[in-house]
Amino acid sequence: MYGLFSSKRAALEAMRVLADQHRLCYGVIGLEKLSPNKPCFRFMLRQCAGACCGQEERAAHNARLQTSLQSIQVQCWPFPGAIALVERYNDEVQMHVIAQWCYLGSVLEPRDGQALARQAAGFDADGYKILCRPILGGQAEIIPLW
Ligand SMILES: [Zn+2]
Repeated sequence: MYGLFSSKRAALEAMRVLADQHRLCYGVIGLEKLSPNKPCFRFMLRQCAGACCGQEERAAHNARLQTSLQSIQVQCWPFPGAIALVERYNDEVQMHVIAQWCYLGSVLEPRDGQALARQAAGFDADGYKILCRPILGGQAEIIPLW
């Protein structure tokens, strides 16, 4: 899964940006229709490496596409179960229980988080956007709850 875009238009714009950065063909990746036996317009501008007209191997084009998509790939939940994200402020400690990027609630003790962790968690796009960096960044204090 790639992106998390607010609209189809935003997703298409992200694909255009990737195509421009990596000289991918708009036609081959489905952003434009290709005319049979004709290179795309961007090939003539040297913005497409030529996968549309045989100037570039499709395999090489597709490998660049896969590489470029990694930059917008949604990260899988990296834990076998729920976690508590520990927040400390002076002497106060709060633990935010999270599973599958979904915030389930806050508790004061890890054992209280176990009950919350048993709730079914679906994927939460807003949670993902907020939590991805602190959880994957390796600087947050995390307690596994599984
Ligand atoms: Zn092209």
